[in-house]
Amino acid sequence: AWFGFREVGLDEKQGMVDQVFHQVAGRYDLMNDLMSGGMHRLWKDAMVAWLGPPRRAVHGYSVLDVAGGTGDIGFRIAGRSEGAEVVVADINGEMLKVGRSRAMDRRLDDRVTFVECNAEDLSFPDNHFDAVTIAFGIRNVPRIERALAEARRVLKPGGRFLCLEFSAVDVAGLDKLYDLFSFRVIPALGEMVAGDRESYAYLVESIRQFPNQARFAAMIADAGFSRVDYRNLSGGIAAIHSGWKL
Ligand code: SAM
Repeated sequence: AWFGFREVGLDEKQGMVDQVFHQVAGRYDLMNDLMSGGMHRLWKDAMVAWLGPPRRAVHGYSVLDVAGGTGDIGFRIAGRSEGAEVVVADINGEMLKVGRSRAMDRRLDDRVTFVECNAEDLSFPDNHFDAVTIAFGIRNVPRIERALAEARRVLKPGGRFLCLEFSAVDVAGLDKLYDLFSFRVIPALGEMVAGDRESYAYLVESIRQFPNQARFAAMIADAGFSRVDYRNLSGGIAAIHSGWKL
């Protein structure tokens, strides 16, 4: 694994990731809008649309949003699905704190709950959730295979796994522009808005290190998921992967 420009161990990587999100938690939502020009909202909408939670969860519908941070995915699911119960799990207490206060503002705190736990070691029973989602989180987890195995474990048989993550741009021309944006604009914005160039340089590096669409799909299948599929968003800047626990 890489942090900046040197090789680091897995536990060290988690420590650095924690530090990044601890530092940016208060400005995290603003940074997302600035850096993606608001695009992250559309990508998140696209994931929740593909999940297609029931409009009225009359027989109960529960979703675990792993690495759910300040609650963006959780709120979208709860907003679209009357009666759905969402658990947002994140390793970082600062991100969860922001999430809890946003939930209160939206009056969704009765249906969206926030739990501190590690994606590699989920504190939930086997066969428990109808769906497990993770958005822009798996890239930060040092042992991706463990996070996938845990997601599968806590899903009910017949349950759905969806993962939104930065991916590999597959449109000629767009890749050059995207490189310029990644290596120049993002760290500069990080410096200006969060006073933290390093953290955002890490963000860019971690995107580059993450497996492309096909390789990540193979990892999901290796974790035991069935009918693995993916959709590109914005020319592959991001992608949504889907799998079922059958
Ligand atoms: N899902 C949210 C969203 O899309 O806005 C937050 C994404 S944010 C880029 C990444 C999140 O992953 C952070 O909140 C961070 O604390 C969390 N994270 C990093 N490592 C984790 C781990 N091992 N287990 C659970 N969450 C983790």
